[in-house]
Amino acid sequence: METKLDLVPVSEWGIFPEGQRPLLIAGPCSAESEVQVMQTARGLKSLGVNVFRAGIWKPRTHPNNFEGIGTPGLKWIQRVKNELGMKVATEVASEKHIFDCLKFGVDMVWIGARTTANPFLVQEIADALRDTDVPVLVKNPVNPDLDLWIGALERLNQAGIRKLGVIHRGFSTSEKMAYRNAPGWQIAVELRTRFPQMPFFADPSHLGGNRKYLQEISQRALDLGLDGLMIESHCDPTCALSDAKQQLTPEDFGKLLSSLVVREPDSDSPEYKENIDQLRAQIDIIDENLLYILNTRMNVSRSIGNYKKEHNIAILQTSRWDEVLSGMQDKAKAYGLSEEFIAKVFTAIHDESVQEQNKILSKE
Ligand code: PEP
Ligand code: MN
Repeated sequence: METKLDLVPVSEWGIFPEGQRPLLIAGPCSAESEVQVMQTARGLKSLGVNVFRAGIWKPRTHPNNFEGIGTPGLKWIQRVKNELGMKVATEVASEKHIFDCLKFGVDMVWIGARTTANPFLVQEIADALRDTDVPVLVKNPVNPDLDLWIGALERLNQAGIRKLGVIHRGFSTSEKMAYRNAPGWQIAVELRTRFPQMPFFADPSHLGGNRKYLQEISQRALDLGLDGLMIESHCDPTCALSDAKQQLTPEDFGKLLSSLVVREPDSDSPEYKENIDQLRAQIDIIDENLLYILNTRMNVSRSIGNYKKEHNIAILQTSRWDEVLSGMQDKAKAYGLSEEFIAKVFTAIHDESVQEQNKILSKE
């Protein structure tokens, strides 16, 4: 069954100013000292950042690393809220974290990637937040599992949390790559398409794992039409106690922001509307033709199935399929279509044909 979420629009959260794009959440990976928190927050405030983030409890891969300052750090972020008038947010992973956050007036919380992957903890957090009005952002789970991500959103929503958003921070991978995490943008886009009203943030800091990638990832997120960015910023990044490589000074964050091109989600211009409508009409016709062609192909495939059955021939001749696929990929190259794309499309078509032929064979 299609999941439905009952959501409050982000404009009614009381967290972000009306009409701002992108929505900005920034601050250090971890709150380390009162001085570091205040100095970083002042720099970010002057850039127009609305929400100050700081990790209070840090989920670290290895023990004996800095695991966050813990509850005492909440006083420092409360000072940011009271003295600078910024909204403040931190990561929560347990019922105790929620109760402490509520005590210190934390305005918004997020669930980290490792926690989203654990339904027990998500449920515990959802129950602790029941009857509160605190907005919650849910990071994607560490593994590229869209259902697990949606499941976490459902748990929170069923506990009455309607101020819900998501943060895309990429997925763990064993593959060697430049970025810290595999972007898997298609999963983010699929979630975005399913829940277009849900505020969607990207976290280029954890996705890239290095400040040199922040610009390109942030721009990609905006080009995809995401609503906001969560970026790690530290007054002295190289000395940071966690994620030193990926943080940047508020000053450099300011430069990054001014380099970004914000695209409009849509346009009211009549000329734009007319042109886009014409192009979309063309796409609709092409899609209908694709359906017709797929159906025609499937009918031929069924005839082949019947013919194979009459002659007692197995359904799958792998050498024939390998030939078909590589032939298609060669032809696709001439059109400038990617081999990967064509392999995906034709594998799906072929799988469906094999299934149809199997049905024919198993019918007496
Ligand atoms: C963080 O935002 O500080 C964090 C730990 O991120 P993630 O859950 O994406 O690893
Ligand atoms: Mn971090």
